[in-house]
Amino acid sequence: MPTTITTDVIIVGAGPTGLALACQLVRYDIDFVIIEKSEGVTPYSKALGVHARTLEIYEQLGLAQKAVAQGAIAGKVRLLERGEVLGQVELSNIGKGLSAYPFMLVLEQSRNEQLMFDWLKQHGRDVLWQTELESFSQDDTTVTAQVKIKRADAQTIVGKYLVGCDGPHSLVRHGLGLAFEGSTFERLFYVADVQIDWKFTHDALTVCLAPHGVVAFFPMPGEKRWRIVGAFPEGLEKDERDIIYEEIEAQIKKEAQLELDITRVDWFSTYKVHTRHVDKFSAGRCFVAGDAAHIHTPAGGQGMNTGIQDSYNLAWKLALVLKHAGHAQILDTYNEERLPNAKRLTATTDRMFNLAAGKDWFVGLIRTTIFPPLAKYILSIEAVRKKFFILISQIGITYRAGSLSMHEIGGNDGDDKFEVKAGDRMPYFEVDGESVYDQLRAPKFHLITFSNGETGDVPPVPNDPAEDRWQRESELDGIRSYALLVDRYVLRLSPPVVKIFGTDKPFNLLLRPDNYIGFISSDTSSGPLLKYFARLFNGDSIRSATS
Ligand SMILES: Cc1cc2nc3c(=O)[nH]c(=O)nc-3n(C[C@H](O)[C@H](O)[C@H](O)COP(=O)(O)OP(=O)(O)OC[C@H]3O[C@@H](n4cnc5c(N)ncnc54)[C@H](O)[C@@H]3O)c2cc1C
Repeated sequence: MPTTITTDVIIVGAGPTGLALACQLVRYDIDFVIIEKSEGVTPYSKALGVHARTLEIYEQLGLAQKAVAQGAIAGKVRLLERGEVLGQVELSNIGKGLSAYPFMLVLEQSRNEQLMFDWLKQHGRDVLWQTELESFSQDDTTVTAQVKIKRADAQTIVGKYLVGCDGPHSLVRHGLGLAFEGSTFERLFYVADVQIDWKFTHDALTVCLAPHGVVAFFPMPGEKRWRIVGAFPEGLEKDERDIIYEEIEAQIKKEAQLELDITRVDWFSTYKVHTRHVDKFSAGRCFVAGDAAHIHTPAGGQGMNTGIQDSYNLAWKLALVLKHAGHAQILDTYNEERLPNAKRLTATTDRMFNLAAGKDWFVGLIRTTIFPPLAKYILSIEAVRKKFFILISQIGITYRAGSLSMHEIGGNDGDDKFEVKAGDRMPYFEVDGESVYDQLRAPKFHLITFSNGETGDVPPVPNDPAEDRWQRESELDGIRSYALLVDRYVLRLSPPVVKIFGTDKPFNLLLRPDNYIGFISSDTSSGPLLKYFARLFNGDSIRSATS
């Protein structure tokens, strides 16, 4: 007799996206069931790059330091052509001043999954392994999933919402009838995790420029361990399933034109590269996230990171609505914010990828003739490096155009020179020598008044101007009833704050629980803020909960 499990959120798939969503829902104390058809976390290295924005998310789980300790910071990029070094550029501190994690971390997907899974276990939660979603249906209030458990009866899971984190072939996406349009590159790519004996040090992403593309060698944790990624030339007639490792090694040596001895092979695979995204991230009470919603070229190592951030964006919205504190329409902003990001991502990774592997003669000319002599010079320009870091690390993703972003300028001596706008991620700066993010770990909204102490409405600031100290404030007319949802602080308008935000006038800033700026106003009274709260919160239910 099949049994029925009832929960708030059904998560399908325990890859990085599903595990990240489960961890976030634990933070918000939301009930969920996570199912996975495999028997455990992936044993394969797959994604290697962990970017700054992901580490900022890990930090809230207390996992950032563990990830950094297990991985290796990408130290340099080294460009080669026909075995000759064209140049080398330092990467280890490329994002200095932009994040507490100013680098790219190399840590295999299998280890990322293990970190999140262990965190779930430590918090008393588990994955239902070997449990496969077979079908699902939804009505106005619930989603019902039929699942098949290995060597057991079928089971029904009833939830209020369902999130398909079930990868590129997503049954959830198919079931919802979401379009998944895009294209497929003709060339067949290969990936191999190997041990190499050669003359190069194990601290640089080593890229060999070649007429038909590039061959990239990523240093992996472990002695002499490298990930090699490249492509077979166009027109390969063999089926990808028939390719043997020796053919990959021959191709690597032919393209890279290097003296190297591959002494051990841990894993290899061949794959076709696709670029696709859904037309919508949700339908009714069901959502898709991660590779279920977008797949793209491996350029820039964005896939795993983007899935984790889809989950991060959705989790707080689900929590707010499930706790009856937020309007149900907030859930629409998941699509509103993440769909443009998926479109941007597929376009950018396509451009990067074309430069690296495009067949166009002009692109080939840039890659092999124009780029090499300029590469070292271009990559050493500070501004270029910073732009590159902002793009690749995902800290530059913005939701400025979204309906949850309210940039109110006016009121007290209004100032429209803000460099930072509502919809941006909270910029990184230090308060008393510590990351601003250290104070922003609680799963809540954070209202920060930046004050110079001169304006009537603005609370006092620390007496000693040398101290930027966080001051906890609770009084602001009309916002007391939101105290369970919103922390309130006052910070001095210190020189770094003035420089980053582009204003020396006091202002209010409301951070959403994902540390994106929802609201900025130079009017530091409660009026504009309460207007913003009305957009987000279900005021009646909050007042009755606190009265
Ligand atoms: C060789 C390779 C290299 C890569 N390199 C990078 C990189 O450097 N950086 C980067 O960011 N990304 C990289 N990626 C991409 C990255 O691996 C994916 O973007 C990432 O795995 C997406 O995570 P996900 O959780 O969305 O999907 P998946 O990892 O595919 O997880 C989906 C899970 O859902 C489960 N599932 C599917 N259907 C069902 C069902 N019906 N019922 C229950 N469970 C189900 C699957 O078993 C799977 O465990 C790489 C990928 C590959 C293959």
